[in-house]
Amino acid sequence: MDPVDYIIVGGGTAGCLVADRLSASGRDRVLLLEAGGSDRRAWVRVPIGYGRTFNDPAVNWMYEAEPEPALDGVRSYWPRGKVLGGSGSINAMVYARGQPADYDDWRDLGNPGWGWSDVLPHFRAIEDRGGVGAEAAATHGPLRVTDVTTQAHPLVRAYIEACAAIGYAYTPDFNGAQPEGVGVYQITTRKGLRESTATAFLRPALRRKNLELWLRTQVLRLDFEGRRAAGVTCLRGGQTLALRARKAVVLCAGSVNSPQLLQLSGIGPGAMLQGFGIPTVHELPAVGRNLQDHLAVSYFYRSRVSTLNNRLYPWWGKMLAGMQYVLTRRGPLSMSVNQGGGFIRSNEKLRTPDLQLYFNPASYTASRTRTRRLMNPDPFPGFLTSFNSCRPTSRGHLEIRSPDPLVQPAIYPNYLSTEQDRQDVIVGAHLMRRLTAAKPLAALIDHEMLPGAAKTTDEELLQDFRERAGTVFHPVSTCVMGKDPVTSVVDARLRVHGLAGLRVIDASVFPTVTSGNTNGPTAMVAEKGAAMLLADAE
Ligand SMILES: Cc1cc2nc3c(=O)[nH]c(=O)nc-3n(C[C@H](O)[C@H](O)[C@H](O)COP(=O)(O)OP(=O)(O)OC[C@H]3O[C@@H](n4cnc5c(N)ncnc54)[C@H](O)[C@@H]3O)c2cc1C
Repeated sequence: MDPVDYIIVGGGTAGCLVADRLSASGRDRVLLLEAGGSDRRAWVRVPIGYGRTFNDPAVNWMYEAEPEPALDGVRSYWPRGKVLGGSGSINAMVYARGQPADYDDWRDLGNPGWGWSDVLPHFRAIEDRGGVGAEAAATHGPLRVTDVTTQAHPLVRAYIEACAAIGYAYTPDFNGAQPEGVGVYQITTRKGLRESTATAFLRPALRRKNLELWLRTQVLRLDFEGRRAAGVTCLRGGQTLALRARKAVVLCAGSVNSPQLLQLSGIGPGAMLQGFGIPTVHELPAVGRNLQDHLAVSYFYRSRVSTLNNRLYPWWGKMLAGMQYVLTRRGPLSMSVNQGGGFIRSNEKLRTPDLQLYFNPASYTASRTRTRRLMNPDPFPGFLTSFNSCRPTSRGHLEIRSPDPLVQPAIYPNYLSTEQDRQDVIVGAHLMRRLTAAKPLAALIDHEMLPGAAKTTDEELLQDFRERAGTVFHPVSTCVMGKDPVTSVVDARLRVHGLAGLRVIDASVFPTVTSGNTNGPTAMVAEKGAAMLLADAE
């Protein structure tokens, strides 16, 4: 194949958006390479289907972290999308920009151009609010973010009232003027179908002659001429191919695979590369370091009143919900189960929210942790509340375990390794109890199933968290952005330090994890990153 202008590695949340933006002028030839297959699958498109794709090897890398001492030695399960749209095709669809302070901190960490006032126009350039709410007029992008307030289960109102009873105010729009508070999560759906950057950005862009998409093509390594990225070597249909890029290789393989590919290509901590016999192209010690993630636990309640379980558990309930979906594209199959939520300050002296909350009008105590049987909740009425620290301070890392690109890297999340993170767990656990003791919820609760009323002390609640907590699937910062090539991987224009023709544009460049879900912020990074790449190429 003749050289193209840009090769994009990975057709996930970031890659699909970048492919659209880089090909928009019609001038540059753009090739997008995605290891997985098409996203035209029922369980990808129907929102509730993420319960199926959660552990389906046809669309999921299904990674596993190393045994985690803080979680009683358990290996946490790390699903990642291996399909067009990436993790944005298998995620829970909650759309959250995060808090303004998240981005002001990115800027203050030495990344000019990434403060809240800088990134807000990029959020607005990607979102389409479907004409609903105060932000609708300000946003002008293709990614539909749906306000499902009127469709939320009636129990969500009780949750919001309980929050108000303990001092946390309602906000009608987490992604508007008041991002702090409690309310109903907006989701990335359009007319009852999952919306992703593949459906919103890439699909229309594929009509352009200068944009080509290769599915089921796994990049094995990046190729260099001196210190310039010249192309990639990939595996397609059993054949190994070398492809060339004239202007840049753009790495959008996500927080696990972007650092893995850099390491496999000789960019990373020198001693580690030498240990595997990989010739060092450029030593960058921070590749794979700085790993951050959200870790949450759910508190389960048996309810005295009917919950979503009553609708989804019986076979006839499933049938009715299915019919409602087919006929109207509404109802529980069109929603995320994470309906209520919030970003709150557990202590009013804090500058920005420290806890993210979830309220699901359904319960799944009977499910094993590696399954998300969303259509098979408990056979009795139940619901759950959940929390995680917004900005955990623990830092993990990941590294290749073999020079073989087909072997998954070793992931060391290092959860709960700081006193601050353990304290956040204790604060969050007591908050769950205060919330469910407040009248609007207390009146509905038969009893707390998990962790159970017998666990009351700080030690018991922390131990319970260690036994039951799991990732919320938000790993970031493994190719972290920053000024210093010793502690970071890319600069504020997302160029890899010390190399030419190579950018990383995905969740791995976040300077720190945002206070909420990471899909929207990743799309924003892609929008801004593509604009910077085009501006620098002029
Ligand atoms: C189960 C789950 C639930 C989640 N829920 C939410 C939620 O409700 N809200 C939210 O905001 N966020 C959520 N997230 C997180 C969010 O989806 C991610 O932060 C976001 O998708 C990251 O985007 P990315 O572009 O960095 O990576 P990805 O979207 O993962 O894209 C990376 C792409 O690169 C491809 N790739 C990797 N290696 C190679 C290779 N060597 N060659 C070719 N292609 C390659 C992958 O197959 C993938 O398509 C969830 C994630 C998961 C897994």
